[in-house]
Amino acid sequence: MPRYGSLTEHDATLNFYQGCRRVDTGPLGACTGCYIFRPWFNRMKTQRTGTDMNHLGYNDFGNQIRQLRSWIHNEDGGPALRRVLLDDMSDGFHEDIPFDRIERLHTEVIEGFPDMTFRVLTKRIGRALMFYRKRERGVPPNAWIGTTIAARNRLQRLDILRQIKGIPHTNAVWVSVEPYLQDLTADPATGEPDPEFSLKGVDLIVVGGESGEGARPMDPRWVVNLNRVAERDGCLVFYKQAGSTRPRQGAGGDTCPCCGRRNHDREALDRLQDRLAATDLVYTSKLNKTKQAKPT
Ligand code: SF4
Repeated sequence: MPRYGSLTEHDATLNFYQGCRRVDTGPLGACTGCYIFRPWFNRMKTQRTGTDMNHLGYNDFGNQIRQLRSWIHNEDGGPALRRVLLDDMSDGFHEDIPFDRIERLHTEVIEGFPDMTFRVLTKRIGRALMFYRKRERGVPPNAWIGTTIAARNRLQRLDILRQIKGIPHTNAVWVSVEPYLQDLTADPATGEPDPEFSLKGVDLIVVGGESGEGARPMDPRWVVNLNRVAERDGCLVFYKQAGSTRPRQGAGGDTCPCCGRRNHDREALDRLQDRLAATDLVYTSKLNKTKQAKPT
């Protein structure tokens, strides 16, 4: 089955919080280049809302729900939106957010709109596990719980994600490999494939390179390697973007693993995206499954 899909990752984003604290830092840290801390973004938000993105801020709950209603009832005349990413300007399991507020979001938003699918993405996946273990109704089937793994020093998050998968009503779990900063499939010391690396139990990975000023490059071979493991383990791949990956410089650069040509990593990655794609179909069937599997 082809592993790259043309689906858009989500239709819209909804932010109940804004502002955060970095958890993955350093050269291989996913938070290191987080856009909410970039001067232009922080300036823009500060001017518009007075919010300092270094601190957790709460957006008006009712406003966000009204926004959601307008999408689902198609008030703007556009297509009804189905896939919503929650909190891309913060982390919905940030340690400063009390569990009763997270519960409210689950009850009123996620379970309140069962025809929509909510993508939850957190780097505090251990806190998410703690929350769902305590929760009587488990994980709402229309919530896809995801975590970020940009480099091998965060592979332990896969195990936590699998534990969440075992909680009642969990429909799908996913991993954001974005920004992709180190080949997840190989031992960094030797470059040899790591036989222990597995994506079993993970439903979807979203892969992408870092963008913007100071972006750290992604090697297309990492994407190819990851795809190989995903295919073996029955995990879908949505290849999102090459990021700021540039063609390699100089004569005789490495041969592209995707098409055999030289020195054009970014083009090669874009072509990978075009080699499609039963993924949309599989994704749709998962959505249908979501609709059928209502919690008791
Ligand atoms: S957890 Fe997400 S929002 Fe928070 S600093 Fe890291 S990348 Fe940014």
